[in-house]
Amino acid sequence: MSKISIKQLKAEFDALLLHKKKIDPEHIVNLQIFENFEQKYHKTVQNSEISSKKTAFLQNELKALGIYLKHFSLFLGLYEQFLKREKMAKKDAAFHQASHFINIMLETFTEGKYVEIGVIEQIDLLRNALINLQKKPENIKKTVEKSDNIALFDDFETSKSDISSYFTEKKLHKNSLSAAEFAKLKKAYDNLKQDMMQHLVLRKKYKYNNLVNAFSKALRSQDAAKMQVFLGKAKKEIVATRIEAPKNKAILDEKLVNISGKGEANSNILLIINNKQKIKLEVDKIGAFYLENLELNFGENTIIYENESFGFLLEKPSILTVQLNKIHLFLGRYDPLTQKAFEIQELNDIVRCKDCRNFLYDFSVEENEGRCMIKNCESKAFYNAKNAKFWVK
Ligand SMILES: [Zn+2]
Repeated sequence: MSKISIKQLKAEFDALLLHKKKIDPEHIVNLQIFENFEQKYHKTVQNSEISSKKTAFLQNELKALGIYLKHFSLFLGLYEQFLKREKMAKKDAAFHQASHFINIMLETFTEGKYVEIGVIEQIDLLRNALINLQKKPENIKKTVEKSDNIALFDDFETSKSDISSYFTEKKLHKNSLSAAEFAKLKKAYDNLKQDMMQHLVLRKKYKYNNLVNAFSKALRSQDAAKMQVFLGKAKKEIVATRIEAPKNKAILDEKLVNISGKGEANSNILLIINNKQKIKLEVDKIGAFYLENLELNFGENTIIYENESFGFLLEKPSILTVQLNKIHLFLGRYDPLTQKAFEIQELNDIVRCKDCRNFLYDFSVEENEGRCMIKNCESKAFYNAKNAKFWVK
């Protein structure tokens, strides 16, 4: 390493900060480690005599910071690869592995720490997981260079304590969050940080930066009262998710229902229909969401709904219940061939023409070579009682 003057050192540090601002405008990489360097620098220049040893020490630290940022850039590149694969590989074990490494690395950079086994090794683990995720290794460049190992951290804050370990280390006091509450909130916090990263990788502005930072502080405090204050403020900031139609406890007589509601703009809502079917909806940019033609069961239906990112603001997800009455639309009508009136107990023998929407006995259709016998229809497509459209007015 060639020696440089203390003046040059400052110029290089300023350039590094500018670079950080460019690649990391949302300050995902903890600013504290840069501020620590600046403090050390100022302390050094205050002395009348600046030893070359001290300058070399600072120079080394500056180099380490530069490498750290370089690692962050590598991480961003890998994260971008991950996002491209995410959609197709959600069930893959390698997907879970990759997302696990991403969580660890994200924690590393946001906390400004140097993971125990080294950042570059972490990057390699993530890179390997991504290679497994899609058998096209040529797309992922090899990232490790020997010189990239960060050599000197002696004087840095090398704290290993991320938020989780901080929690276990800290003595619990009367007002602290319970372990279950903490785990739930920490998970929500990790999800928000992932959102933050995605925005950075996709070069989009992230709206909830301040909220995530305040969330981090509240979590670190471990203090239930402080967490309540944070949650109270966040609740005012984030539009609560609500379904406006149908109304809760509504009694409906249409098998297919349209759902509409309001929520935080550009966020995602998860609906769970009758504890079974999961549906994800996007809230549009003006804060509205819609779902068309949801099929209901006869009797009671429950729709549990929650905002995926901000559901933690509520104690539990919201529930909508609606009742669907069974209306037999074929009652009072006659089969066109036999001229017999339909009866409820004949449900499984009745079909409905997809084109003219008339009801017929299935054996009447058979008699007519599988065609609808309504004049000028002659369709060959029918619904039976298992199809939602059989029941639709
Ligand atoms: Zn027909």
